[in-house]
Amino acid sequence: MPRKILVTSALPYANGAIHLGHLVEYIQTDIWVRFQKMSGNECWYVCADDTHGTPIMLRAEKEGITPEQLIARVHGEHYRDFSGFLVGFDNYYSTHSEETRFYANDIYRKLKAAKLIETRTIEQYFDPVKQLFLPDRFIKGECPKCHAKDQYGDNCEVCGAAYAPTDLIEPYSAVSGAKPELRSSEHYFFKLSDPRCEAFLRQYTSRENGVLQNEAANKMQEWLGAPGENKLTDWDISRDAPYFGFEIPDAPGKYFYVWLDAPIGYMGSFKNLCARNGLDFDEYFRPDSPTELYHFIGKDILYFHALFWPAELQHAGYRTPTKIFAHGFLTVDGAKMSKSRGTFITAQSYLDTGLNPEWLRYYYAAKLSATMEDIDLNLEDFVARVNSDLVGKYVNIASRSAGFIAKRFNGQLAPADEKLPAIKAIQEAAGRIAELYEAREFAKAMREIMLLTDAANQYVDSVKPWELAKQEGKEVELHAACSNALNLFRLLTVLLKPVLPVVAGKVEKFLNIAPLEWTDSQSLLAAGHAIDAYEHLMTRVDPKLIEKLIAANKESLAPAPEAQSQQRHAEHQQKEIRSEAADGDLCTIDDFMKVDLRIARIANAEHVEGADKLVRLTLDLGEERTRNVFAGIKAAYDPAQLVGRLTVMVANLAPRKMKFGLSEGMVLAASDTEGKTPGIYLLAPDSGARPGMRVK
Ligand SMILES: [Zn+2]
Repeated sequence: MPRKILVTSALPYANGAIHLGHLVEYIQTDIWVRFQKMSGNECWYVCADDTHGTPIMLRAEKEGITPEQLIARVHGEHYRDFSGFLVGFDNYYSTHSEETRFYANDIYRKLKAAKLIETRTIEQYFDPVKQLFLPDRFIKGECPKCHAKDQYGDNCEVCGAAYAPTDLIEPYSAVSGAKPELRSSEHYFFKLSDPRCEAFLRQYTSRENGVLQNEAANKMQEWLGAPGENKLTDWDISRDAPYFGFEIPDAPGKYFYVWLDAPIGYMGSFKNLCARNGLDFDEYFRPDSPTELYHFIGKDILYFHALFWPAELQHAGYRTPTKIFAHGFLTVDGAKMSKSRGTFITAQSYLDTGLNPEWLRYYYAAKLSATMEDIDLNLEDFVARVNSDLVGKYVNIASRSAGFIAKRFNGQLAPADEKLPAIKAIQEAAGRIAELYEAREFAKAMREIMLLTDAANQYVDSVKPWELAKQEGKEVELHAACSNALNLFRLLTVLLKPVLPVVAGKVEKFLNIAPLEWTDSQSLLAAGHAIDAYEHLMTRVDPKLIEKLIAANKESLAPAPEAQSQQRHAEHQQKEIRSEAADGDLCTIDDFMKVDLRIARIANAEHVEGADKLVRLTLDLGEERTRNVFAGIKAAYDPAQLVGRLTVMVANLAPRKMKFGLSEGMVLAASDTEGKTPGIYLLAPDSGARPGMRVK
């Protein structure tokens, strides 16, 4: 029986451009959805722009347009960017819609009937010039802890302290600069601390329930507090006019806070799709629904998706999410994306530079796992991996064999050898790779697929069609070799199709076959099957394009025109230095766990011609390939003595291009930095450790 699945990605906010950091999630979701669809499941992928709130209102005002005009324009831009990266939404909608309004009102009324809504009078800062209540991010002032100036109302970027806006010293409105006044106002709260919500969430978010990844479930237990110690606090779901959003039905002048209607936008978008496609909305959202609901989100919005959202749904009489999949953030070249370094890369600039979206889809797939760990886009590695895996290995199989079929055999295939080990290996691996896709272990899937691709290439290298073609009377062998190669290529295309939909489409066209389904991994092309002319599938990444991309995204630090802003610039730099120092003393366990330390066996060690400090090490980590590492240990070690030894290496260090070649990691050694005891001492594990074991 095909499964019925509804999938969402988080809703991007309608006041900015999509960048490569956002795309991690949309590409991850899209690959998963395409895999489900290829596997014969009924799978719907919906999303929308998140359009409400004070920032949208103020931005529109600044641009001299209405919020409706702003969100319409941004919707067009977002949709263009997602389409450019082949993200195949079944519906890309807007939270500013009648469907979303309907479900926001409906959920609110049901929660109110369940006595889970209450009103309270709170004191909040009000901008007397702009005549509006200020969200925390729109109030600035001096940090009450470290006294840094110009800090936001919710936390200090210098010392990291979190506080209430009313704690700020000399607060001012970031909108008008005016001194804000404290005014009281009636707000609406969702009673998350109610024992019913607590009991439900304890069970729902528990590790045993399996809705959340283990690391997320642990986080939830922290937020919930130990049993008996309810740490949940009620959630303020209203904002005062003027506000761009939905007015609360029985409370004139009060609006739903943007975070209330954002996840409800998933329902709104799906309802809109149901109306167009004749789907039954209730089948997917009733409490006993047999369908599956999955939310892909960033780890920063777990609080909203794993606590507020399921608690609302549960107590308003709807189904709750089957699973919530949180992912980590993107770093570029090992660091946070940065406008000054040109690594804050917009989706549009990537496409405008002429880079192929499938290169990035493949690279992300090769990095993504089911955990919340951050992933790194290493630009040098990106070029190397795409060129080696996709062009050098995968596309190469077709380009080396298709021409002979067209020229010598009238485009017709000979029967494939179903006993060929490379063919059997793919057919046997398909089930395992399907499980990896299902489990969002895309990096593992890509590794398996590339091993199979290597085996396919080894077959082609062993039969050498280009040599057979030159020899008299080898027609049968040549025909068989090329037909086997194209069958191998077709099977590999099935496995890669969720990641590379455009390439797969071109392959289907030139192989003259129906759109590939996952089950096609078990079949072969029939003898006599006629293919069309081979069409070029993918070019290599030109490293010059990467330089162009960085240049296009580099925001020059404009020279400060007046003394005052120079002063501010200096203060800003000082701030950065201070925060680095503050962070520099300690690292968290999460920081430490980012370093992937592994036991490595030194498979080979040799002198490096022309380098007086370096030894070239070939390290075996128990993986299919070894790593090349240059280590500055020549003064202390004779390479011959190192071979066979075990040591510890940093396995996820960004590869570094050195004069002598690429260094793909680092080995650990002790030395006296003050130089009192000269020498370098390579670390070694206790006996019993094996290559590849993690050190932590
Ligand atoms: Zn501070």
